[in-house]
Amino acid sequence: MLVVAGLSLKNLQPDVWKPESPYYISALQAVMVSYGEFHQMPKQMQKAKEVGLRKYLGVPAETKVFLDNGAFYFLRSGDVAERKDYEEFVEEAKPDWYPMAFDVIPTPQMSNAKQRRCMDDTMAANRAYNHDGYVPVIHICRILDEYVRAVKRSPKLSAKARIALGAMVPNLLRAPKAVSYDTVLKCLFDVRSTFHEKEMHVFGIGGTATLHLAALLDIDSADSSGWRNRAARGIVQLPGSGDRVVADLGSWRGRSPNEEEWKKLQRCRCPACREKGLEGLKANGLAGFCNRATHNLWILLDEARWLDKHLNAGTYENNYRRRLDNSIYLPLMKQVLEMKKQAEQR
Ligand SMILES: [Zn+2]
Repeated sequence: MLVVAGLSLKNLQPDVWKPESPYYISALQAVMVSYGEFHQMPKQMQKAKEVGLRKYLGVPAETKVFLDNGAFYFLRSGDVAERKDYEEFVEEAKPDWYPMAFDVIPTPQMSNAKQRRCMDDTMAANRAYNHDGYVPVIHICRILDEYVRAVKRSPKLSAKARIALGAMVPNLLRAPKAVSYDTVLKCLFDVRSTFHEKEMHVFGIGGTATLHLAALLDIDSADSSGWRNRAARGIVQLPGSGDRVVADLGSWRGRSPNEEEWKKLQRCRCPACREKGLEGLKANGLAGFCNRATHNLWILLDEARWLDKHLNAGTYENNYRRRLDNSIYLPLMKQVLEMKKQAEQR
């Protein structure tokens, strides 16, 4: 599975995708920027259109540049963008991957009727972009099965080679009335089987455990900004397991590493830990942030590598419990494995 590192235009450090950077991670093959951010920064938007996103970001030829249409930002801020401006941006900045404009994201708090309106608006936008490379978007919500039927009804949309799944963020954050994990999994599994021939992207995957889920569901690519968000809160990730707070940045609380976990961190081979060690992870300011972010992304990519290896070799089932020790998500992996077995028997 391709792990796409979500970037922020407001602070492009650490520049993990640049071979000349001290934070360079060679396993990183794709980055994502958001049109929502460009929309807020007209100068940067202009520059990216002039030179193209690849050159603007300094991304090497072998690394893919994904563009997010900013739907989540527009939902949150109430800000509005014009379709034609987005189209112009796509045409001139030339991302390798870009969704249609603009999907209307349902929130878990909405009634079914409201979620249906979001779906109708999103499907209308999908149909308006059934040409060229625009990727259709559908959302995890209570009426996901209706979404799937709506895509299948359109010959042009169902003929597209790619599809993207959104609204994982609100659903996985367990907002009130969020779809239960069971339902999310079953829906995801059904969507994946229905569109088994399509290249499927999932927007906004959080950390390690959700990466396991995506890999088990044969998702082709998933983006995450969790490596940066966690770093900003003083948090580092451990291989296979959860978040640990290593830098005391005041307002954030959480579990500190135990003795064994500190040792694990000490052995970390990521570019930041190799260079700066534990002190680097604990540091304040931009340096500490860059070290933790680099570390977190490296861990996520390493987890993706582990997943590819074990899923390809058929050894996942025997190893995931140990890998994800004590994760609260273990029952979810077990459930997906069950669903896969049942599907194979059918
Ligand atoms: Zn590290």
